Amino acid sequence: MSRAFNFNAGPAALPESVLLKAQKELLNFNGTGMSVMELSHRSKEYEEVHNGAISLLRKLLNIPDDYEVLFLQGGASLQFSMVPLNLLTEGKTGYYVLSGSWSEKALKEAKKVGKTVVVASSKDDTYKYIPELNADDIKEDAAYLHITSNNTIYGTQWKSFPDVDVPLIADMSSDILCRPLDINKFGLIYAGAQKNLGPSGVTVVIVKKSLVSESLDHLPTMLNYQTYIKNNSLYNTPPTLAIYLLKLVLEWVESEGGLEVLEKRNNEKAKILYDVIDESNGFYQGHAREDSRSNMNVTFTLPDQEKSAEFLKLAKENGFVGLNGHRSVGGCRASIYNAVPVEHVEKLAQFMKSFKNR
Ligand SMILES: *Cc1c(COP(=O)(O)O)cnc(C)c1O
Repeated sequence: MSRAFNFNAGPAALPESVLLKAQKELLNFNGTGMSVMELSHRSKEYEEVHNGAISLLRKLLNIPDDYEVLFLQGGASLQFSMVPLNLLTEGKTGYYVLSGSWSEKALKEAKKVGKTVVVASSKDDTYKYIPELNADDIKEDAAYLHITSNNTIYGTQWKSFPDVDVPLIADMSSDILCRPLDINKFGLIYAGAQKNLGPSGVTVVIVKKSLVSESLDHLPTMLNYQTYIKNNSLYNTPPTLAIYLLKLVLEWVESEGGLEVLEKRNNEKAKILYDVIDESNGFYQGHAREDSRSNMNVTFTLPDQEKSAEFLKLAKENGFVGLNGHRSVGGCRASIYNAVPVEHVEKLAQFMKSFKNR
């Protein structure tokens, strides 16, 4: 059986070579006579996987020594709470940019913990663009500024990151590793793995040590970043299989040539689809404003609901998976994360053109 043309938004496509390697090692990992899943998380063999994943991520993203790399569970959604629990201290304010549903959810959780301010928003325009941020609006009471680097549902993405004097926190769940990053600009980055990093079950947090150095003993142990820092993310049993697969994905990223190569490829892939949209005389309408277009999630609509339904039905019959837009916006969405091959994107572009002509 051939592999599907997988445009799922998350969990999403994984590199075929990663799956084959995992398959090959499933019954006997590294001569242990066991699968990775069966290893003790305190064993030397697992430790190599764990630390290997951390050091590879450090290398690929060029993460400076004054940052920690942590593996957590609970998804990006738990980070919506952990960020304010750890950083939004008494008398401080969490500043949020609203650029889509995920940032709304992050704000909702922060409100339960402390004082918040919405410093920019594109909600009134159905999140078609990344709102303009005025750095002067961020006052001295700011604990941090929270942004969502890529808005998975609306298909918008920050092209460059704001220069602010307060810790910048970014939810990068749907675009981490899609391009090189200057980690120094950020206080904390978090990402659920199931879009660009691997399978669901592990969440990566990259945090500047000085930001979480204060002791917060009132916090539940598992909600305190310090627990993970002090124990190399091995305080309790980590999601060992997910971390193993994450490491395989990172090895794949490295073998592909690293983040510069992937960025170029991602932009090419996105252009293939945006060109079809732009050259369709309005048959396909992009949801995102041109200057905010994501190279990870391409969102578009057809002239009416009926045509959308027909498009999705025929696409499915032709082996394309996951093209339905998120239930909150409708229409169509092609998620073209790192692991989606250029050839699959070309196939989709051809299909879109022939559907329009038909
Ligand atoms: C998918 C996604 C989330 C939710 O991630 P979970 O791991 O399911 O909690 C949060 N933020 C963004 C930007 C996402 O794309």
